[in-house]
Amino acid sequence: MKKIIVAIDGYSACGKSTTAKILAARLAYVYIDTGAMYRAVALYFIQHYINSTNPKAVAEALNQIQISFVHNNKTDVCETYLNGLNVEAEIRKMYVSEKVSEVSAIPAVRKHLVDLQQKLARKRGVVMDGRDIGTHVFPDAELKIFMVADMNVRAFRRQQELFERKQIVDLEDIIANIQSRDLMDTTREESPLRKAADAYEIDTTYITVEEQVDCIMNLAIGKMIEKEYRLEDI
Ligand code: C5P
Repeated sequence: MKKIIVAIDGYSACGKSTTAKILAARLAYVYIDTGAMYRAVALYFIQHYINSTNPKAVAEALNQIQISFVHNNKTDVCETYLNGLNVEAEIRKMYVSEKVSEVSAIPAVRKHLVDLQQKLARKRGVVMDGRDIGTHVFPDAELKIFMVADMNVRAFRRQQELFERKQIVDLEDIIANIQSRDLMDTTREESPLRKAADAYEIDTTYITVEEQVDCIMNLAIGKMIEKEYRLEDI
């Protein structure tokens, strides 16, 4: 079967990463969490006191940043490394969530990470989740999904996720963070979060993760068959 790109975009905490991870495993595709890449850059900026409004400091910082993903066989999780250090737990903490949308709005940061994302998926066979994958990183992705969900459900799911990582955060603080990130992500000048015209919208409020995965899997199979038998390719 010819390999496709599955682009999953949407608002924060709608279940993109959980769904994308399972889907990639089922398709035997590579999963790329682009939010983790922006979080790793934000972490570096915090740790090194980088002034986001100083283009020279931003360019120098980007030159120092190496991001990679390593599969942890024990936990079966693909973990994020920043300059050789495992930062998977650190980048999920609230202080990084509070900084990440500011850092991801910087055009130089976006260009740097988009170039990297495009290289990672050169051979297709990838499930990539983020905010601009279907609109900007891979406008030619064969399958584009746009996820939405009710705010309270999103916040509650994120609270559970943080709790599983041993972090206790008030629901109000999570809602405030999600709302502020949604606002910054949809109103920034550089590739703001938008639903691509040819994306399928999935509302995950009342459906389980399994149902989300099944739904996207069926769409992916349809797209793979379409690609395999496209008349101009025969
Ligand atoms: O997906 P996650 O919630 O981890 O993303 C964290 C932040 O990274 C988002 O709120 C957004 O500011 C930024 N992001 C982005 N473009 C992407 C992925 C994430 O701007 N493709």
